Amino acid sequence: MAATFDVIVVGAGYIGCAAAAELAVAGLRTLLIERGEIGAGASRANYGNVQAQDAELTHSLPLTLAGLSRFPALEEQLGASVGYRRLGSLLLIETAAQWQTMAARLPILRAAGIAAELAPAERLPEIEPLLDPQTVLGACYHPHEGQVDPFALLWACLRRGRAHGLTVRAHTQALELEIAQGRVAGVRTAQGLFSAGAVVLTTGAWTNQLGRQMGRAWPIQHVRGQALVTEASALRLNNHIASAAFFEDIENTAGGAVLAISQTARGHFLLGEAAYPDPDMSQRAEPDGMRAIAAVATRFFPALGALRALRTWAAPVASTPDGLPCLGAVEGLPGLYIATGFKSTVIVTPVVGELIVNLILGRPSAIDLSPFRPDRRIDHAHRP
Ligand SMILES: Cc1cc2nc3c(=O)[nH]c(=O)nc-3n(C[C@H](O)[C@H](O)[C@H](O)COP(=O)(O)OP(=O)(O)OC[C@H]3O[C@@H](n4cnc5c(N)ncnc54)[C@H](O)[C@@H]3O)c2cc1C
Repeated sequence: MAATFDVIVVGAGYIGCAAAAELAVAGLRTLLIERGEIGAGASRANYGNVQAQDAELTHSLPLTLAGLSRFPALEEQLGASVGYRRLGSLLLIETAAQWQTMAARLPILRAAGIAAELAPAERLPEIEPLLDPQTVLGACYHPHEGQVDPFALLWACLRRGRAHGLTVRAHTQALELEIAQGRVAGVRTAQGLFSAGAVVLTTGAWTNQLGRQMGRAWPIQHVRGQALVTEASALRLNNHIASAAFFEDIENTAGGAVLAISQTARGHFLLGEAAYPDPDMSQRAEPDGMRAIAAVATRFFPALGALRALRTWAAPVASTPDGLPCLGAVEGLPGLYIATGFKSTVIVTPVVGELIVNLILGRPSAIDLSPFRPDRRIDHAHRP
């Protein structure tokens, strides 16, 4: 007989771990299944930055703010250290067009209560001494962001969930959804059928693999994001740093890289990012991508040229054409929910589980989720 749960969460990245934990805390018998190890998808590949800098401004600010506000008390809530530390961020500006794009965001961010300013190049040595200020016109500076240890956060969520009865099964791939009488009834895996009245797909870039079996295609796309980590160094970054070019059309940077640099609390530099289109869901870091990353990082931060790279990696990272997440119930298939494609995922992790609990229990949501409906129509000319 199939093991029976109230809810099955498919995919143990940030979103799946957070959702599964909150569902268990809410008293629902919850199973979390993951095809690989915990965090086997994009969540093993990231820097752990809590970033409001790239927030989508039309509908996502309430979500971004709700997440950001949770971090100072998150470790207390989880009863575990997740390596949270406060950091600022810089978006480096190289062109007049980027300056205009950043300037246009400022009033909206500030009105929402997110501190942000445009710093000309002359001010940058004070904010980020490692940066060569001659390489930029300036930067958009967000002084109040942060960073966590990605794996510590995933495991803290799971421990909290398990303390409330959460069942976790790694190496258990959802092969197809079980549908009965027009609604979702469970998940089929190679290890057997698991029954549940509700299923939440937190499957990131893989979500449409399951969707296609049901004739569904949600607006989820992905790139293969690639990065490398250096040996630990006594050099210190004050901020996590990316290029304002991320706000431009950079999906097809095969052979190139756009600056995204951060440092772990132990002093290792995390250098990225080369993003390749990737229909095959490959997890291979390409040598030309690594060379491009090293070139772009040392152009802005010459001192990093003396460091050795320790490890490279790549992972498929989900996004949507309109920059809004897919978060909500699937139309026409009661019991199925999707939560993926967040523009910045770490920042929403403390709040997304509660939103999913409310969806499943039919409770009102403090945040308007209607713009995030997975089955929304997207004008493909629209860019966030
Ligand atoms: C170099 C780099 C740096 C980044 N830095 C940051 C950062 O600092 N801050 C930030 O917010 N974001 C960052 N990101 C993006 C971030 O990593 C992702 O947005 C985030 O990890 C997505 O989390 P997720 O839970 O939605 O998806 P994923 O982590 O991809 O989780 C989906 C999970 O579902 C599992 N799965 C898929 N199909 C099935 C199936 N059929 N059955 C069972 N399990 C299945 C997968 O194995 C995977 O573990 C970065 C990305 C890269 C590449």
